[in-house]
Amino acid sequence: MKGNDSVRVRYAPSPTGDPHIGNIRTAIFDWFIARRLGGDFIVRVEDTDQNRLVEGSIDHQKESLEWLGIDWDEGLGKPGEFGPYVQSERLHIYHEITDTLIESENAYRCFCSPDRLKELRQEQRSKKMDRIGYDGHCRGLSSYERAENLDSGREYVVRFAMPTEGTSFVDDLIRGKVEFENGLVEDFVILKSDKFPTYHLASVVDDHLMNITHVLRGEEWLSSVPRHIQIYHSLGWDIPFFAHLPTILAPDRSKLSKRHGATSIMEYKQMGFVPEAMVNFLSLLGWSYDGETEIVELSDMISRFDISEVNGSGAVFDMEKLTWMNGNYIRQMDSAHLGDLLYDFWTQYPPREFDREPDRESSRKVASLVSERLKTLTDAAPLVAFLYSNEIEYSVDQLIQKQMDHSATLAILEEGKYFLKDIQEFSAQNIETELRILADKLKLKPRHVLGTIRVATSGQKISPPLFGSLELLGKSRTINLIDQAVNKLQAN
Ligand code: GLU
Repeated sequence: MKGNDSVRVRYAPSPTGDPHIGNIRTAIFDWFIARRLGGDFIVRVEDTDQNRLVEGSIDHQKESLEWLGIDWDEGLGKPGEFGPYVQSERLHIYHEITDTLIESENAYRCFCSPDRLKELRQEQRSKKMDRIGYDGHCRGLSSYERAENLDSGREYVVRFAMPTEGTSFVDDLIRGKVEFENGLVEDFVILKSDKFPTYHLASVVDDHLMNITHVLRGEEWLSSVPRHIQIYHSLGWDIPFFAHLPTILAPDRSKLSKRHGATSIMEYKQMGFVPEAMVNFLSLLGWSYDGETEIVELSDMISRFDISEVNGSGAVFDMEKLTWMNGNYIRQMDSAHLGDLLYDFWTQYPPREFDREPDRESSRKVASLVSERLKTLTDAAPLVAFLYSNEIEYSVDQLIQKQMDHSATLAILEEGKYFLKDIQEFSAQNIETELRILADKLKLKPRHVLGTIRVATSGQKISPPLFGSLELLGKSRTINLIDQAVNKLQAN
């Protein structure tokens, strides 16, 4: 194990699509470890599979981490003494290491053609052989044959020469000792014919050269352990700590996939989840704070996080719980913060209900009106559309409240208009006082008066608190909307 006591962890996304929530959970645990133990958190881009690159993936990784408030110390645009942090910029390093491995006979060039490999697999399958994989053909080439193949310019890959006996194991921080028989692992490719390394070589080399102390990754990589352990051994390198995180499962306990719903963190952002809830929720996928508490302050999670407490069995993604948690976070936020989140959200994803762009200040005011009613940020736009749209729509039937008639409704609107016009400081409190006096004067129930004004100004029967909403609308727009209601009623 590493003798170095400064902890270094890395998140190593491949730019092959939008960040999956499983990847982000790995990043969160990495970050918790680094921040708890005063270590470094590195982001390394693993782009060795050039055929699978998806443009924009790295930007989305960055945007996701930033959105969630996960800060990192090296890589992804930040300098550091162990760079470059993008694997395609480190090819010369992998080539050098590959040469070392070939020289020490821990690796060899394989000239087998794709056709031969295909035939081999077909034959192994048809004979129902236990072991399907490379048969080691080129491992046995004589030095003469090797030289001849090289001289004739034949394409080759480089394969690692796996020991045919013994076992490889790790003391996984989550799973304990996990052991594998070497003989069951084929001589795997470490350098492809395009001269890019495979994940196996690149990740081991980088984890070593970047002084990574803890390797956290999804359990789908557990089967790579014997390969990685053997690469470490063959180079005489110390083995870092490993932790293989449990797969994220759908409620039916199958692996969470697109058919169950959103799997990309960007989609959750777009659905109106707030970063605080997202980090809290994802960190409880496989880990528990104290066995019962669900809503946990970030600083408490960081100070208590222990990777060895993570549960190795799959973690179920419960959308209902996430939604509940999100609503909870929203209700507890101060309105300036919620307002900023709403403002950013509306700026990035303009609601179709709005005709005008909200500004930061009004978003903050809106936040205090709606926070009690939101489960997600997307719930806000329909509630406050009347504040940001030029037209509001409703029918006369909606305007005339239950137990009210045409003429009483008209009276409320016409009188109400004058009451409201007279208010000097158009504040929620003054508006409330005036409208209550109006109800008294008209000998009507306040709810009838307020209900009528509510529909006239918002087009909705249920809207955020009326007085605060009118304050936000402002006097002239409020009067204007009441005028429109009067016209609508008279035209009917
Ligand atoms: N690039 C790998 C992935 O995206 C990372 C695996 C690892 O963390 O070692 O799954």
